[in-house]
Amino acid sequence: MEKSRGSLLRHLVPDETVRRVEDLDPERLAAEGIAGLILDLDDTLVCAADPLATDGVCEWIESTRAHLKVVILSNNHRRHRVAPVARQLSLPFILRAFKPLRSGFRRALELLELPAEQVAVVGDQVFTDVLGGRRLGARTILVTPLSAHERRWARRLMRRLERTVLSGVQRTRAGGVGPLR
Ligand SMILES: [Mg+2]
Repeated sequence: MEKSRGSLLRHLVPDETVRRVEDLDPERLAAEGIAGLILDLDDTLVCAADPLATDGVCEWIESTRAHLKVVILSNNHRRHRVAPVARQLSLPFILRAFKPLRSGFRRALELLELPAEQVAVVGDQVFTDVLGGRRLGARTILVTPLSAHERRWARRLMRRLERTVLSGVQRTRAGGVGPLR
């Protein structure tokens, strides 16, 4: 029982946590062998309530693309939501990704022309971004969601589950599930 709980948690534990994408140093990631990023869009790059990315995110993307290849991978099915942000940031994008399923991640790897072990998946959700990235064999980086308040009840429930999982992870770290950086 303890073993299966540990193996499930292993797939839900990010390799790294940061408050926002701008806190990630692309030079450091490149020095650690990362050559590409698969970025989530909603509440990772852009607040769910905003149509476009902030100036800070635009500047971070500019400095990041000097070191890493970047693609947007979003579960959002609305092209009119995803495409303007991708255009603003001059990034390729995949929408309707059905994360955590592997198919969207594999298409992202093809766009990046990189193997999973040279890629970091960055997102705000444990059950889509982290789980999908771990199953892919990529590095996973969890960011704090940009939206402080979630209006949709299903998403609020998911956030509660994520907090439960992450607090369980903190307790299990001593049992070999970690590390979180
Ligand atoms: Mg998201």
